[in-house]
Amino acid sequence: MDRRLELSNIEVLQTLGTGSFGRVRLCRVRSTGDYAALKILKKSDILKMKQVDHVISEFSILRTIRHPFLVNLIGFTQDDRYLYLALEFVAGGELFSYLRTIGKLDNNHARLYAAQITTMFEYMHAQNIIYRDLKPENLLIGHDGYLKLTDFGFAKVVEGRTYTLCGTPEYLAPEILLNKGHGKPVDWWTLGIIIYEMLAGIDPFTDEEPMAIYQKILKGKVKFPRNFDKNAKSLVKHLLVADLSKRYGNLKNGVNDIKNHRWFSGLDWLRLLAKGIDMPYRPTVRSPDDTSNFSRYPDSPNLSPIVRASDDPFLDW
Ligand code: AMP
Repeated sequence: MDRRLELSNIEVLQTLGTGSFGRVRLCRVRSTGDYAALKILKKSDILKMKQVDHVISEFSILRTIRHPFLVNLIGFTQDDRYLYLALEFVAGGELFSYLRTIGKLDNNHARLYAAQITTMFEYMHAQNIIYRDLKPENLLIGHDGYLKLTDFGFAKVVEGRTYTLCGTPEYLAPEILLNKGHGKPVDWWTLGIIIYEMLAGIDPFTDEEPMAIYQKILKGKVKFPRNFDKNAKSLVKHLLVADLSKRYGNLKNGVNDIKNHRWFSGLDWLRLLAKGIDMPYRPTVRSPDDTSNFSRYPDSPNLSPIVRASDDPFLDW
């Protein structure tokens, strides 16, 4: 499917968030009237930070994936200075903001989110895509209350192992810290971290200083709050395992060890995928362009994009 967009067809609106190379802004596709999240990447920054490979990988992965819990690519274009990726707009804001507002989630709520994350990784891993950057900032909440994963900047197609250090300190798996080469199991480690964070309201390995966080991760001792659900605790303990030959998701039954774990017992996975289960929280979204669930960004200068859309933004620079 050809998803090239003309810049003149895009009306750029307010900022939704910021990433490493620029902003993500709400936009309206004039020809359809649809709203989208426009990820604007500054070419000079990408080059300066030697991130060309990551950006190409993000783009090619976005082009191939299609899943109810992953943000879909609507279109793309470029001009002399920027690359533009138009993604479906997920109006409920980041799980990060929601968690900071309510502190922590109740067990059923966390279980439903964890199940969605499990199916995201199941789908990506089946295509040999590892995600490598799970964190509440990258999980957006749709108007229906279901999660959508965004930011494939660190995602990579790999069969076997890769060596680049990437991710967020609190979420780094021991094998990344030890530079042993890492693969799909890193995503299952991060599932363990996020389950803990959703239920406890804090990260299992946390400190002011990244070095101290790394030491805690390598030590591997997890303390659980007293009211932490015992089944959830059991699953987290099977995920936050440094020994890859023992980590759930990486054993001979693959993802089924996670899906069949007793914390998920009774969950109808197919109904979940079909979004047939009511979510405990549905964000208030008043209109298709409602950005009230996102933080305010005061300096939101108007972009006046230069129209010079070429055939394939990632092949000619
Ligand atoms: P990213 O650079 O992809 O990590 O995006 C930075 C921030 O922009 C995210 O943390 C979100 O707040 C926002 N954002 C990214 N993608 C979307 C989207 N599809 N819909 C709404 N907001 C988004």
